[in-house]
This record gives sequence, C-alpha cells and structure tokens, in this order.
Amino acid sequence: MGIRVLPPDVTAKIAAGEVVERPASVVKELVENAIDAGATTVRVEIRQGGRRLVRVTDNGEGIPADEVELAFARHATGKLVSAEDLFDIHTLGFRGEALASIAAVSRVTLVTQAASESIGTLVRLEGGELLHRESKGRVPGTVVTIENLFYNTPARLKFLRSDPTEASHALALVTSYALAYPELRFTLLKDGRLVLQTMGTGELYNALVDVLGLQVAQQMLLVVPQMLQVVPQKLEVPAGTEESLDGQPATLRVWGYVSSPALNRSNRRSLLFFVNRRWVQDGSLAYAVEQAYHTLLPRGRHPIAVLNVQVDPAEVDVNIHPTKREVRFRNQRQVFSAVQRAVRRVLINERPIPGVSARPVPLTAEEWERRRQFAHVRQPGGARMVDPGMEMQRTADREPVVVGAQRKLTGLPMLRVVGQLSQMYIIAEGPDGAYLLDQHAAHERVLYEKLKAQRASQNVPSQALLEPLTVELLPQQAAVVGEHQELLLQVGFELEPFGGSTILVRRVPAALVGKDIAAAISEILDQDAKDEAGMSWEEHTLRTLVCHTSIRAGQTLPLEEMRDLVRQLEQTSLPHTCPHGRPTMIHLSAAQLEREFGRH
Ligand code: ADP
Ligand code: MG
Repeated sequence: MGIRVLPPDVTAKIAAGEVVERPASVVKELVENAIDAGATTVRVEIRQGGRRLVRVTDNGEGIPADEVELAFARHATGKLVSAEDLFDIHTLGFRGEALASIAAVSRVTLVTQAASESIGTLVRLEGGELLHRESKGRVPGTVVTIENLFYNTPARLKFLRSDPTEASHALALVTSYALAYPELRFTLLKDGRLVLQTMGTGELYNALVDVLGLQVAQQMLLVVPQMLQVVPQKLEVPAGTEESLDGQPATLRVWGYVSSPALNRSNRRSLLFFVNRRWVQDGSLAYAVEQAYHTLLPRGRHPIAVLNVQVDPAEVDVNIHPTKREVRFRNQRQVFSAVQRAVRRVLINERPIPGVSARPVPLTAEEWERRRQFAHVRQPGGARMVDPGMEMQRTADREPVVVGAQRKLTGLPMLRVVGQLSQMYIIAEGPDGAYLLDQHAAHERVLYEKLKAQRASQNVPSQALLEPLTVELLPQQAAVVGEHQELLLQVGFELEPFGGSTILVRRVPAALVGKDIAAAISEILDQDAKDEAGMSWEEHTLRTLVCHTSIRAGQTLPLEEMRDLVRQLEQTSLPHTCPHGRPTMIHLSAAQLEREFGRH
C-alpha cells in the first residue's frame, strides 16, 4: 500500500479522539475556556446526557470578530506563545486543540461578542467545515452549542454509556469546577431541569453547601496550611502561614476541606484535587489522603476531600495528556507528604466525636413545610443540592455508617462513668448529654497507642512462659514464622520450630499472658487475614495483638476499671476510633434527648 500522509479530515478525527472522549469532555473544554475568558457566570446545559446537546454560556471577554474562525483552527490559541511558556502556565487551556477537535466531530454554533466591540458574530460549523457566518448583536460573552456529538464517528458513539451515566460524568465535571472556583456562579441544567447552582460568593465553604448540601458541608473539616485557626467559613489562606516545615518551598500550599471520619463514602469518587486550580485525577494524591485517614475509617470506606494544591507552575507539568487531566510534579514525594500531613493534622486536631444525630428523624408536616421554606430562602434559585457524581451511591451512604459528627471538639470531654450496658458498653455522662463507649473498641485504641509507643522505643514487655506451649499450625503459617522471626521477636514472641508445622512458644508479649495465646499466634501468622486487611506485617501483628489482649465484649467491668479505661482513652491521640476505624463511642446530645422525649 505504501506510506502516505493522511488527509486532514482523518488527522482531525484522530486528534479529536484524544481530546473528546465523551460529552463530559466537551463540557470540560468549554467550561475551561469560559474560565480562561474571565467569566463570572458559567451556565451549562445538557440534553440526553450531552449527546444531543451541550451548551455553555459565559459572560467572559468574548472573541473578536476577526478571530472567530481562527479559534477553530488546530493549534490556534490566545494563551501560549513559546515552548518555554509550557512551564509557566496560568490558564486552563494552552494547546489550542479543543474547539478544533470538538468541531471535527459535531455540529457547532458559536455566538460571541468581544467586550470591546459593538457587534458580535455567529458561526456554524459541521464536521469542522464552516457552513455559515453572520454578524449578530449580543451581550459580551460567548455561547457555544454542540449538537449531535460523534454524528460522523459512529464507532465513538457506540462507546457512550446510557444518558444518565453520561449526564453524571458531566455533573461531576461541573461540580468539580464549581468547587475549584467558588467565586464563579455555575448553573447546570439537565434536560431543562436545574440540577446544580452555586452562588459564587468566593468562599469554598459556601460552594460546598451548594454542592453537597448543608448537612454534609457541616461535617467537613477545614484544612489550612499550619492550622493556625479553624474558621470553617473562610477560604482565604491566612498570610504567612505557608508550609515551610521540613524545607518545603514556601510556594507549596495545601488547603480545602476533608470529611470528618464519621462521614464517608463507599468509593473514591469524592476525592477531588485541584492543582493550581485545575481539576486533576491523581491516584497518588488520593492515596496520600487515604493514608492520612489510616485507622480512622472502616475498611472499604473512603473520605470526601476537596483539596487545593498550589505550586509554582514551573514545579508541575500539565502537558502530559491531551485532556490535561493528569499532571506530574517535579517533586512528587514532597507534594504527597505535604498533602498527607495537612490532612492528618486537621484530623488529629479536631478529633470529631461521632454522634447519632444523622439518622433521619421522621418530620411532622409543619416541620417539613418550615424546612422547605427555609431551604427556599437560602437558595433563591430553588436549586436542588446534588452530590458530585454520587448519584449511584446514595443507597450505600444511607447505611447507619454515616453518623453525625460533633465539630471542633478537641480531645474527649470530661466523662463521668455511670454504669455498664449489656456487658459491652460503658455509659457515661458528659457536658452535653450521654456517651456510650464500646469497651472493646476503646480498650483497643488505648492498647494500640501504647504498643506503638513501646514498639517505637523497642521496648515491648515480654514474658517467658513457665512451661513452653506447643501450637499446631498450618504449613503456610509455619512458613511465616521463619520469614518474620525478627518482627515476632521484637514484639515479644520467642517461637521455635518443633517438628512439622508445630511450634514451641517460649516467650509472649506480657499483655498476652492469661489470654488465648494459641489463637492470637494463629491469627497473627494468617497471611490471608493480613492480605485482606491490606496492611504490612508489622501493622497486622500489632493490631491482632491488641485485639487479643483488650477487654472483650461480654466482660463485666467494675466501676473503677471503667473509669480507668475512660481516663486512659482521654490520653490517646485519636480517642474516637479503634485501630480498625470503628467508633469507640457514640454521643446522644442533650438536645437530641429532649427532642426524642418531646420535652420542647
Ligand atoms: P485553548 O483553550 O487551548 O487556547 P481552544 O481550542 O479551547 O484552545 O480555544 C481556542 C481559543 O479560542 C482560545 O485560546 C481563546 O482565545 C478562544 N476562546 C475559546 N473559547 C472562548 C470563550 N468562551 N471566550 C473567549 N474566548 C474563547
Ligand atoms: Mg480551551
């Protein structure tokens, strides 16, 4: 066949394939253009998941009449001049590809008027060909309408999902930009229905309320560099509070909101990151945040995070993917650890106590009406609150895992132990109502922190058994003994092979004396349990030990012992969850008790 240069309409489609994957990609490019144009309101409209129509209306600077055609030329951009500029990017677009790519695979109508001109322009293109052009009066700004996406690339069309799925991607996109740009007013209409509206107050907290709803927003914790103050309403980063610890450049800042551990999701879709105000999907940032929640969340649950990372543009490469959705940091580790520490700090500083308030209480008819009116006042547009891209996980999130959180309570309040319930829970009274503590979980937290400290100082107390104990293991368990001899010794075990897969236990951690030693050892050596928990051998060993040495459910506790436990729990750094992330206590506030008893 021989080598030939491809004709332009083919190369255009190839290029379009890289940028335009689905309707949400169109939304992304058009919204980014609106933001780059300095718009303060951005209105997005989609029909049939965006395949029928995507329209973005902005009040930005518009395109001068004599540049309109050029905007659709490939590699035509008003934002970048030289190759060096690639490392000093301050706009969301810079590749000059989006309009050309979108136009190649759809029917486009663009109406624009530059602020400096008295008349605007309308152009219509199909498959990249200019069909029509006229002068048209309009207020300054731009409206881009994309219809029949992929009409000339049927293969692409086949890859699209159902309309609701495509719509949810578009919604996730608009939501993310609404959170990245709280000073802009975003509106999203889906098949004529208003599904998202933000007020554009400039405060991230308000945008969170608009997007996630008041109840969720109230459970979010503010991450400010260095945590000088806790002011949930303010986005502004206090001057002079930049991260400068550990030799980090002062230009690296991390701020935003993360969920209190009691509020969590069944997937990672609620982890949003903005690097220099660009929404990016970055697995390592997500991992850094999840690391910060280590031991605070139940297995399989994920936090919500809306985090801004600000770095010197020279420190980050955004030009590694045509959709600009991934970035590469020059110093990945530094950014990772700054994010992790910023989040960990707020979690440790705030230590929110789970409450039982979020379980929906049936409302009376009058109460419904009152709330409805209130909601109406707060949202003049009558907007419905929408979770970002979370439509599908609603049910999962209604599980009782989601309990309310008491904000800004540092440490534990002074608790007076009242008694024990079901040989399982400690009943205590605090400054605001009643507290129920899970005796096993609470003791696990106490022992875990103690053991971690002992382990850190290489000083785990160990005790020789008067008579060595023989324990029969499975062959795979016996193999673990050989591999992790060192670790086992350091936590206080002295184990010896005793023929076959039997071992001889000579010494055990002091805390394990009098407990079921064989069961503890067998669980520690269980590779499957370790893998399932997804942690290191060390962590698995410590947690298993703690689990086997702590007070169990079903144990009657004398008052003095319960008081002692509560006092020790007060000393821990994270008193509100056990090492496995389950709550150690729940709180019934005085107000809630009053409500439940109808005392108002
Ligand atoms: P890029 O954003 O990478 O420059 P695009 O193809 O998205 O490339 O847009 C090409 C050019 O068209 C932009 O550089 C900008 O000058 C102009 N443009 C596109 N959309 C708008 C808009 N909504 N308002 C003003 N100018 C726009
Ligand atoms: Mg662009």
